[in-house]
Amino acid sequence: MSGIEMTGAAVMGMGKPVRSIQRAGESGFWAVNPMTGEMLEPKYGCATDAEVAEAATRAGEAAWAMAVSSGEMRAELLRKIAEKLLSAQEAIVQRAHLETGLPLARLNGEMGRTVGQLRLFADVAADGSWVDARIDTAQPERTPIPRPAVRSMLRPLGPVVVFGASNFPLAFSVAGGDTAAALAAGCPVIVKAHPAHPGTSELVGRAICEATSELGWPEGTFALLFDSGMAVGAALVQHPLVQAVAFTGSTAGGQALMKLAASRPEPIPCFAEMGSSNPVFVLPGAMEARAGAIAGGLATSFTLGSGQFCTKPGVVFVTKSTPESFWETLRAAVGGMASMGMLTAGIAARYRQGVDARKRGAHGVETFAEAARTDESQIAAGAPTLMKTTLEHYVSTPELEEEIFGPTMLVVEYATVEELTWVAQGLRGHLTTTIHAEEADGEFVAGLLAALERRAGRVVWNSYPTGVEVCHAMVHGGPFPATSDSRFTSVGTASILRFARPVCFQDVPDGWLPKELQGSNPLGMERIVNGRRTRESLE
Ligand code: NAP
Repeated sequence: MSGIEMTGAAVMGMGKPVRSIQRAGESGFWAVNPMTGEMLEPKYGCATDAEVAEAATRAGEAAWAMAVSSGEMRAELLRKIAEKLLSAQEAIVQRAHLETGLPLARLNGEMGRTVGQLRLFADVAADGSWVDARIDTAQPERTPIPRPAVRSMLRPLGPVVVFGASNFPLAFSVAGGDTAAALAAGCPVIVKAHPAHPGTSELVGRAICEATSELGWPEGTFALLFDSGMAVGAALVQHPLVQAVAFTGSTAGGQALMKLAASRPEPIPCFAEMGSSNPVFVLPGAMEARAGAIAGGLATSFTLGSGQFCTKPGVVFVTKSTPESFWETLRAAVGGMASMGMLTAGIAARYRQGVDARKRGAHGVETFAEAARTDESQIAAGAPTLMKTTLEHYVSTPELEEEIFGPTMLVVEYATVEELTWVAQGLRGHLTTTIHAEEADGEFVAGLLAALERRAGRVVWNSYPTGVEVCHAMVHGGPFPATSDSRFTSVGTASILRFARPVCFQDVPDGWLPKELQGSNPLGMERIVNGRRTRESLE
């Protein structure tokens, strides 16, 4: 690889320091196995102020080299990271199982998704057309004023700080979608490891460092810092060299980081992907035709991964004339379940508090099904719980629209379909909304669809929202409070757009322009030249 000088990251075995991975420290913490409560070695030190400053300085240095790297070079890096992750897959998955309690099969699947995501971004970087190159050629003869040569494209923002969530220790964590998108765009990445899975983070971080080191990328291309609390994350967001924040996690966490990013002397974008209750609207015709199937689908969807998905259906609207088979199917499914293992003792405790508060706080909410058995093998666990209420009570109790992270769902009964469109219009922002409809519901669909499109990043039809496809057309986003910026997605290839900004070059001579904008089109890219999409050169 040419043009990028490596500044000397030495990659050593597990437990030994890598300069880009901070681990030792005076104050520190251990990962805890949520299934047994056992503390897992080794101890992870919290990063010091000096380590935060060093990571940011090195990322600032690396940003220069990354900005002039080619898409092919970044694609090579992403593919190498994928290869390194696959070579370390067994160790990573075993450690992730101990730290999260997630089943090995799920974690192996998540590794597949993580590697696929890295390779997809490699293809995007290599193709290069994501930079949206536009050229308006000069018109020196134009009167009364000649037109200059105006060319623009997307350029990388600079160092990005990434915060992953606890519920996807691979796909939304150290080498997850945010890291893949930022590296593909040409931005250095500093990850603040999630304290619930530090060992997994370290192993993944080492795989990334091996890749950057073998390919000769600067040390500051990637860094991983640990902390058991919030100080390191806050310091990173406030560091003047950091140019953007990508966060996946709770509403409280996301909003705290948004405030910090906005209150800096130089405010920066904070792309916070937070939680939502992902309302599902079952129209009367669909309920009449498929009551049992819809109930079965919902039971699976809200308990998948112990309900610890940001896309879990938390609220379902059903007609008051819903057949008994719907309620029976849900009661039977949940009654046959045991309490479910959760990611951390803290998440399990917050889940129980949330469910108890909903049961206690609102006289209009009734619990109609609850897991009868307790799984004694799980220390951190939550019982699947179904509650129901009326539409009147739902609309007068705004907290019922909030996410409870875990296996619970609220069923809301409506009297008329007209009420549904009105409720849909008043929703806060959600990651997803879902419609179940049949032909008989036709006349109500258009109004509901129009309302839901305005309140969510993704509208799901006759299916269930849990799970997000990583592809080109995916939108995993939505209006606040689901995310901090509804114009972007955090999943899929379009998420690269968060980490770049348009720059216009006016009358800059060809030889000084990025290759993407040069007249001969040396990369053979599709560009917009004088308003027309073309791969032709200007010569
Ligand atoms: P979390 O508790 O918010 O933690 C996420 C990360 O942010 C952690 O590293 C955490 O560090 C850090 N953090 C949180 N608050 C902070 C603050 N005020 N200052 C600095 N750092 C802060 O979330 P989680 O428990 O990992 O994940 C569960 C939540 O994520 C659920 O609500 C779920 O819906 C949501 N989620 C959303 C998506 C999405 O795509 N939108 C995907 C998955 C999950 P500390 O723990 O040290 O504070």
